[in-house]
Amino acid sequence: MGLFEKKPLLATVLGRAFRCLVCDHAWFWTREVKLNSTGAELVGLAWANTSALGLVCDECGYVHEFAGRNRPKLWSEKQGYPEGTR
Ligand SMILES: [Zn+2]
Repeated sequence: MGLFEKKPLLATVLGRAFRCLVCDHAWFWTREVKLNSTGAELVGLAWANTSALGLVCDECGYVHEFAGRNRPKLWSEKQGYPEGTR
């Protein structure tokens, strides 16, 4: 299968189960979001390396963007959440 399985994934952020901010759904599609590097420098995100990880809610489509160093970790349906996830 590889990196691009055609199934949404579970996500954890800093060890916490991440849910959609809008509808509380737990399954997401991912996409790389290119940031405008000039804009990124203006808002002090030059360290973010001009790309963000977008988690697209499988249910409502809301896009959550993560540009920091602690990117969300993704888990397949088969894996489930890792032990210790809050
Ligand atoms: Zn949602």
